[in-house]
Amino acid sequence: MRENIHPAYPTAKVHCACGATWVTRSTHGDLQLDICSNCHPFFTGKQKLLDTQGRIDRFKRKYANSPARPEKPKKEAAPKAAAKKSDKPAKEKKPKAEKKTDKEPAAKA
Ligand SMILES: [Zn+2]
Repeated sequence: MRENIHPAYPTAKVHCACGATWVTRSTHGDLQLDICSNCHPFFTGKQKLLDTQGRIDRFKRKYANSPARPEKPKKEAAPKAAAKKSDKPAKEKKPKAEKKTDKEPAAKA
């Protein structure tokens, strides 16, 4: 290396917000990081929700007392629909069968 052209390259301590620290070299001095490979969701595989301005808490407080989902209309609607469906084909089939039986003897006679 030539003299007097390279910057100073001392060891630097890196501090992450998660508490991880390690030592590297830098011309810039010590580093303060918000996120590192120990705490980033890409490396941890865990979802990390950044609750800005408490929006998630506000949403949970707003809908804490409301029911999860109204299940009564679904339960009532399903049996009615099933009953209607079962009634309609029965009504339709019987008259057709009767008509056929009426027509056939008339055609034969
Ligand atoms: Zn970290």
